[in-house]
Amino acid sequence: MARKGLFIEWEYCTGCHACEVACKQEHNFSEGNCGVKVYEVVTTSPPDKVYVDFMPVVTRLCDLCAERTARGEMPACVKHCQALCMKYGTVEELAKALEKSPRSSVFVPH
Ligand code: SF4
Ligand code: SF4
Repeated sequence: MARKGLFIEWEYCTGCHACEVACKQEHNFSEGNCGVKVYEVVTTSPPDKVYVDFMPVVTRLCDLCAERTARGEMPACVKHCQALCMKYGTVEELAKALEKSPRSSVFVPH
């Protein structure tokens, strides 16, 4: 079976943390644990530019919502991302999406 993962177009991530909340609720993770964590990264380009990027990172606890996807549903994080910047698919599909989107990441947790 083709390996699957998550594609995150972080250029459009608003930092809303809905993916984290959805993941925690789906898996009932204990405090501090989650399948995805959203980091805020601030960079500057002198003299006057400041960039604030929100970068979701998939952790080793992510099981790609195995129970949900076995039922044919999307992973909880993908379903609840209102910016629609998360996708679930095969590595091949995600690699194609990556080619079209420079500020994005692919995670294949296992
Ligand atoms: S795919 Fe499921 S387990 Fe993985 S980060 Fe998203 S909600 Fe969490
Ligand atoms: S739900 Fe989507 S927009 Fe919100 S923090 Fe997660 S990836 Fe970013």
